[in-house]
Amino acid sequence: MTSMASLDLKGQVLVPGSSEYDAALHRNSDLSVLEPGYIVQPEAYTDIPPLLAYAAVRDLEVAVKSGGCHSQTWASSQGGVVIDLSRLNRITVSDDKASVSIQGGANWGDVYEAGAKEGVEVPGTSLWIVGVGGSLTGGANGNLSSRYGLGSDNLLEATVVLADGRIVRTNTEEEPDLFWAIRGGGNQFGIVVEFVVRAYPPSGPMTVGRLVYPGTAFDDVLKAAQEFEAAATPDDKVTMSFMRTGPDFKPTVIVLPWISSKSSRSVQEILKPFRTTALPIVDYTTTLPDQLATSHVFDATLSQAPRRLTIRGATFTKLWTDMVAEAWRRWVTFTEENPDSRSTAMMWDIRPAGRIAEFAVGETAYPLREPHSFVAIQGRNTRRENDKTTYALVKDIADYIRQANTAHAGHDLGVLLSMAQGDEPPEAVFGPNLPRLRKLKAKYDPKNVWKKGFAIEPDFS
Ligand SMILES: Cc1cc2nc3c(=O)[nH]c(=O)nc-3n(C[C@H](O)[C@H](O)[C@H](O)COP(=O)(O)OP(=O)(O)OC[C@H]3O[C@@H](n4cnc5c(N)ncnc54)[C@H](O)[C@@H]3O)c2cc1C
Repeated sequence: MTSMASLDLKGQVLVPGSSEYDAALHRNSDLSVLEPGYIVQPEAYTDIPPLLAYAAVRDLEVAVKSGGCHSQTWASSQGGVVIDLSRLNRITVSDDKASVSIQGGANWGDVYEAGAKEGVEVPGTSLWIVGVGGSLTGGANGNLSSRYGLGSDNLLEATVVLADGRIVRTNTEEEPDLFWAIRGGGNQFGIVVEFVVRAYPPSGPMTVGRLVYPGTAFDDVLKAAQEFEAAATPDDKVTMSFMRTGPDFKPTVIVLPWISSKSSRSVQEILKPFRTTALPIVDYTTTLPDQLATSHVFDATLSQAPRRLTIRGATFTKLWTDMVAEAWRRWVTFTEENPDSRSTAMMWDIRPAGRIAEFAVGETAYPLREPHSFVAIQGRNTRRENDKTTYALVKDIADYIRQANTAHAGHDLGVLLSMAQGDEPPEAVFGPNLPRLRKLKAKYDPKNVWKKGFAIEPDFS
């Protein structure tokens, strides 16, 4: 058998016992960290096929890491091989500024930084820390998505390393099935080492900030949020967050605006409900120049947040009063009774689906194409013994919102792949696209090399 050293890789191989190995174990959530036998950081796409062959002969599990933001252990492995794409993070803006080529290990901060220098923006996730690899294959829903669609809706072409070691280009003409599957089907079809996405002119400056309300004003803030929701356009959004912040850690609602200067309405008009229907105790807004700057607005908050994090999302058609009030009640009660988990937060994205809902179901693998928005439920605790309780609360609230929205809307919107944890029914995650995805799993990964991630059962029939 060949040794790892004889593979003659351009990239670096890290094994347990070195400080570089220890640093490379880092993930956004401490719950995502496992200890692989090898961490390999390729520097060329051609490093990857021999690695896959090496792992196959030894029956080693293969995991792929891009931004390391998923709160499951899908980008880590206990004893196997982690293909850590962090050295493949080059960004190239095309000469005509119509597209950006992104290597598979870049995070959105890398993209926004290169875009800011060249005067272009790309629809990606709201925060810079999120990896392009994991998010774009699952959709990538961010501040520009109502205007331009998901990140995956803007994919023009990709380069993928397949399970059998072939490196293929895929677009609507070449390997079109693969191109369809990686736009919302997740990581089950190959390692995307390069994405080419559509680019747009800058949408800044943007108005951001925070309007803070005590929990006692919850009913008024919800009314204000409903007024905002009824009038919102694709260029203005607010995130309504349920948080406990020091020094007293009382329940608080913080409204975080993101308003593009392209909006047809003035900032005053857009934020009026949050200043009249509800009265903030802190009212701070400012303007930031571009997508890069807005992707850093939560840096200070995140740097202090407990690192044992689990995230689930729930989709909703509207801010139904009883649904949001019950979610608030459960969150208040849980964070009151579990002080170690009091940093658990809920972030309601309030804005129209816009361009996302203009695609037909089945046009790409991403299934949810009707008006909707989503809430991210972020469970956080500091002590290991509280992991299970926090995890259970996050699941309880996500399940509750799904059921309550189904009862109001008359049908189920399903579960977002980007925030799924692997225990959801695949039908809920992929909807009517599941049968085609199962056939393509059999075509592109018949031996199930991509075991990690949200599993898709191959259909060999
Ligand atoms: C703080 C935070 C904020 C978030 N905000 C948003 C948001 O605004 N919008 C949104 O849509 N989602 C958001 N998410 C969810 C995010 O999209 C997913 O967690 C996503 O999986 C993260 O991608 P990653 O590359 O960082 O993850 P990783 O943990 O590196 O990987 C996650 C999965 O993707 C696979 N993968 C990674 N790279 C590749 C690749 N190049 N090719 C094939 N498979 C790959 C991995 O194997 C793994 O299964 C957020 C998550 C966090 C933690």
